Amino acid sequence: MAGVAIITEACIGVKDRACVDVCPVQCIYEFDAATNRLVSEVEAGSGIVETEHPASPEAIAVFGDTLLYVNLDECTSCTACYQPDVCPVGAIYSDEHLPDGSPSSAKYNATDPNKGHDHTFFLQHSRDVFASEP
Ligand code: SF4
Ligand code: SF4
Repeated sequence: MAGVAIITEACIGVKDRACVDVCPVQCIYEFDAATNRLVSEVEAGSGIVETEHPASPEAIAVFGDTLLYVNLDECTSCTACYQPDVCPVGAIYSDEHLPDGSPSSAKYNATDPNKGHDHTFFLQHSRDVFASEP
């Protein structure tokens, strides 16, 4: 059983959107500060938005548009984005392998510069940034 995808701190400032292009359900979002909405494009950089959601002002204020966000209610756990050859900085984990800071319990991504840190913050944060629909 595969887990949902969690994007963690290594994406900050990198955001090359490679994961967006492999996601079959467009559930990886970028924050658009102009509209205060989270948007997912059909193809990264195309300008054609397939899905969007309002952003929670409090939660999105933490990192804003510096990284991408997976909508965990929409992720089908297909595993495509957290294959080792997709994210150049190893920022994406299955929630089942999210490092919690204890070397024995985590399966680290080889290229993650922050491996060894506690990444569990990003599980709840991924949920918090998506505000409830009105
Ligand atoms: S592939 Fe990695 S660095 Fe690139 S946008 Fe996705 S999570 Fe961020
Ligand atoms: S696991 Fe699959 S569905 Fe979930 S975010 Fe990654 S590519 Fe998209």
